[in-house]
Parts: sequence; structure tokens; C-alpha cells
Amino acid sequence: MYIMKCSIGDEFDKGQLLPYGNIELSPAAGVLNYGQGLYEGMKAMRREDGKIVLFRPHENALRMQIGAERMCMPSPSVDLFVDAVKKTVLANNRWIPPAGKGTLYIRPLLLGTGPVLGLAPAPEYTFIIYVTPVGNYFKAGSAPLSLYVEDEFHRASRGGTGGVKSITNYAPALKPLIRAKSKGFSDVLYLDSEHNKYVEEVSACNIFIVKDNIISTPPTKGSILAGITRNGIIEIAHDHGYQVEERLIEVEELLKADEVFCTGTAVVVNPVGSITYQDKRVDYKIDENAVYKRMFSTYMAIQKGEIEDKNGWIVEIN
Ligand SMILES: *Cc1c(COP(=O)(O)O)cnc(C)c1O
Repeated sequence: MYIMKCSIGDEFDKGQLLPYGNIELSPAAGVLNYGQGLYEGMKAMRREDGKIVLFRPHENALRMQIGAERMCMPSPSVDLFVDAVKKTVLANNRWIPPAGKGTLYIRPLLLGTGPVLGLAPAPEYTFIIYVTPVGNYFKAGSAPLSLYVEDEFHRASRGGTGGVKSITNYAPALKPLIRAKSKGFSDVLYLDSEHNKYVEEVSACNIFIVKDNIISTPPTKGSILAGITRNGIIEIAHDHGYQVEERLIEVEELLKADEVFCTGTAVVVNPVGSITYQDKRVDYKIDENAVYKRMFSTYMAIQKGEIEDKNGWIVEIN
């Protein structure tokens, strides 16, 4: 794992690789008492030709900087972040699955680790990167999600931290998630907290609908996490000639969509098979020519180097 520390008012400048293991924290650490922390999620992939590649790591670095500003933490520069990710991945080369067999999931953390008793930013910060191999979570056409529209609990509200990957956003999502899973659903779909009517996102992925060949997704203005996969899928959809709209989507409109799919680093692109809202369940037919399949295969082909990376999304590290 990679570890790097910095005092408040200073800048992160140099970290080190250490064997994966526990870290020591003061019981008064800011992160333990007040939840001052952010995470990121990204992947490294081994290609058929042996190259190891990252996908848009600068975007994760920038997102951490935006989140750090919101959470009053110093953050590594983009170059330092990306360099640390590369070093961590190379040091764990033997854990990167063979081409086509999975990826190395990379988890950067930024934590307020200095002791602080009164509510204030911690005096010291720790940036950590650890990794773990993961299988192909996704297989195009496999296990469509069955989503439960949550109309009691909300994930984020206007002016809150839903738009950044603050660790504080996720524990409150456990109760609705466990409740939905116990009823047989695969995940929760959240609505906006103000009107309880507009679709926001799933616990840890973004949502898209397709209606009459127009692709729509809610705008990421505050309470929705701006997924890097979401952004990439919008670009690819434009390249394929689709009209893409970022706009408010009412839950009723979602129920009338031709197709619904989710995006995120873990799932990449995952079709939604059914949505349940109050007493109504809608099933979506998942057809051979589904839009999500085109999006998924283009996205994967860019990562695998099978089609041109015209946007400069790929970063080779060996
Ligand atoms: C991480 C995350 C996403 C997906 O973001 P990606 O950058 O595509 O992985 C979407 N929603 C939430 C709430 C998330 O935490």
C-alpha cells in the first residue's frame, strides 16, 4: 500500500510504499470522530499484449481535490496522485489478474488522521492507496438489476455532500440497502430529497434512461455524484450519434422508459431489469440491440485497446 502524510497548511509531497497492513490512529482522529474522509475507486487492467493500463486516473485525482475542498482537507496534486497510483499498481503487479480475467481495483483514501476534539479540521492528513484483485463483476447481458425506488430515506440533499465521495455518504445508505436486499432487490434508487419525485442515482452508481432512442440522465448539480463512467458513457453516446440529455427525470417517466441502465467503475454498465416504486413494478425487456450493450462494448474496447483512444483516456504504466 502507498501512504503519505501532510499537516494542515502544508502540501503532500512524498509518500512511500509499505506492506499492506493496519494503520495506527489516535482515538481523537478527525476521521473517527467527525467523518473527515474521502475515497476514490478506480481500476488497473492487464491487456492481452501485457500492457498495464489505468483509465482516466486524472479524473479521480481531480474529483478528490474537489471533495477535499468541500471537506476542508489538503489533497495531493493531480500528478502526485496519479504517480502514487502507478507506483502502487506496479508494486502489486502479481495481483493484477491475467487479461480478460478481472482487474485490479484501486482504492485511494484521504483521511483526517490528526487528533482533534472540538469540531474543526484535523491537524494532520493521510493519503492511502490499497488495491485488491476483482473478477469481472459485469458481463454484458448478465444479471440485470432489480431496483427499489426509495421514497422514505434520501442519500443526499441540496447543499450537502452527495456530489463528493465523502465517506459520510455511505453508512447512512446501508439501512435502505439492507432493507431493499432483504426484499429481494439488488439495489436502491434514490429520489431527490426536496420533491421526493426526481430520480437521482443508485447507492454507488449513476442511472440512465433510454426513450425513443434519446438517452437521458439526471444532471450532477450537488446531490448526485459525478461518475467518471457516467461522463465517459455520455461521450461515447454522442460519438454513436445519440442525443443525450442531462435533465431532471421524474420517477413516473423512468417507469415508462424503453431501457434503463446504471454506470460506475465497479459495474461499468449494468442493465436494469425491473424497478419497483411504491406498489408498482415495471419490467424492462432487455433486447439484443439494447443501447447499453453498445455503450458497454465500446467502453470496454477502448480499455482493452481494441479501438482508438481518441480522447486520451488510457494511461499506460509499464
Ligand atoms: C463512485 C460513485 C459513482 C460512480 O462513479 P464512477 O466514477 O463512475 O465510478 C456513482 N454514484 C455514487 C454515489 C458513487 O459513490
